[in-house]
Amino acid sequence: MAFRTVKGMHDILPLEGVGEMPPIASWQRLEDAFRTSAELHGYSEVRTPLLEQHSLFVRSIGETTDVVEKEMYVVRRGDDQLALRPEGTASAARAYVQHKVTAKQPVTRWYYLGPMYRAERPQRGRYRQFYQAGCEIYGDPGPACDAELIDMLVGLFRGLGFEDLEVCVNSLGSGDTRARYRQRLLEFLRPHASELSDDSQRRLERNPFRVLDSKAKVDQEIVKDAPQILDVLDEADQSHWDGLRRLLDSLEVPYTVDSRLVRGLDYYTRTLFEVKSNAGNLGAQNTLCGGGRYDNMIKSLGGGNVPAIGFAMGLERILLALDAPPPELEPNVFFAPLGEAALPCAMKLARQLRAVGIAAQVDGRGNSMKSMLRRANAEQARLVVILGEKEMDSGVAQLKDFAKHSEEQVSQDALLPLVRERL
Ligand code: AMP
Repeated sequence: MAFRTVKGMHDILPLEGVGEMPPIASWQRLEDAFRTSAELHGYSEVRTPLLEQHSLFVRSIGETTDVVEKEMYVVRRGDDQLALRPEGTASAARAYVQHKVTAKQPVTRWYYLGPMYRAERPQRGRYRQFYQAGCEIYGDPGPACDAELIDMLVGLFRGLGFEDLEVCVNSLGSGDTRARYRQRLLEFLRPHASELSDDSQRRLERNPFRVLDSKAKVDQEIVKDAPQILDVLDEADQSHWDGLRRLLDSLEVPYTVDSRLVRGLDYYTRTLFEVKSNAGNLGAQNTLCGGGRYDNMIKSLGGGNVPAIGFAMGLERILLALDAPPPELEPNVFFAPLGEAALPCAMKLARQLRAVGIAAQVDGRGNSMKSMLRRANAEQARLVVILGEKEMDSGVAQLKDFAKHSEEQVSQDALLPLVRERL
């Protein structure tokens, strides 16, 4: 039997799209746009391992979340119980605490980009390996940085060509507010307990917030009339929430308040947001990006009392929604050397071009000129340098410009400046 990719995981090929996965150039363009935007806002890249202690995710994401209960890829090795990371925030926070970053920097801005793993039911926009790009800010209680984060996202998505963005914002309050709201929610939900879905019944007493973002229709009907957290914010939470909204208004960031927004992870406090788009037939998978504040996580992982906020965006969904045009090809130079002396000469000339940043390939197979030119065509080379015996004898080369359909003879010594001019 031939080997295939694992269910819910996909290859990304250099030249052609495979199923829902566009070719690599589309990914690289999106990744570059994200990196540029993050770096312009003062974020630096962090890279953490794909494997972490399983308990890190249980502690930070929460025992009663779908991710931890049902979707983790757990790896046992000796006495260690490890897990493939299902998201980036917990790993980054672990690194932040482990390397005592607080002591060196009062405010830290990190970004990351890479694959995440969740054993979900695969469908369009939902995979078992998927790529996330995300940002985290440690040490800034907001709300200014919360507003800036949302503003940055809107700028990034607009720059990518999104016209129909929906930004949903909510506050989950913090300590006391959450405890009070939890109580109210429980009082509201308990009389309906037997009508709730099995998952929600099981989670009701341990984590009633989960019921609010349950995907089950029966649950959604019931929570329609549930009390709203925005009505019970305490003074400090209210002032944070008002501050965020004032700034978003001043920055002219369009948003809607969605008091049902809870999101699937337990660690959030205060600000919570999602960016959605209806482009690209994403259906229910139309949340491109989600994030929020998690002021208690660093402490719960053994660090100091450090407030934090972050977001993660799913690259596959953004690419599906963007329906990106075929990428423009990088201009490049293809060397077609014929004969023994021509090959090292071509390799040296190619080395010269690469040294100044021009992509160059040498056909070293020893094939006929016809076959080399066919390959140059398939590689969609812009310029072809032909080095035959005749050319080698007189120190010249034929420079073929595929785009202009022209050919000229040039001295080998003058090749570099001429190629530069032609590209
Ligand atoms: P989350 O980490 O659950 O807050 O998700 C943040 C973003 O990651 C979502 O808005 C999606 O764009 C993306 N995402 C989450 N889970 C998946 C998945 N299984 N497949 C593809 N993208 C995902």
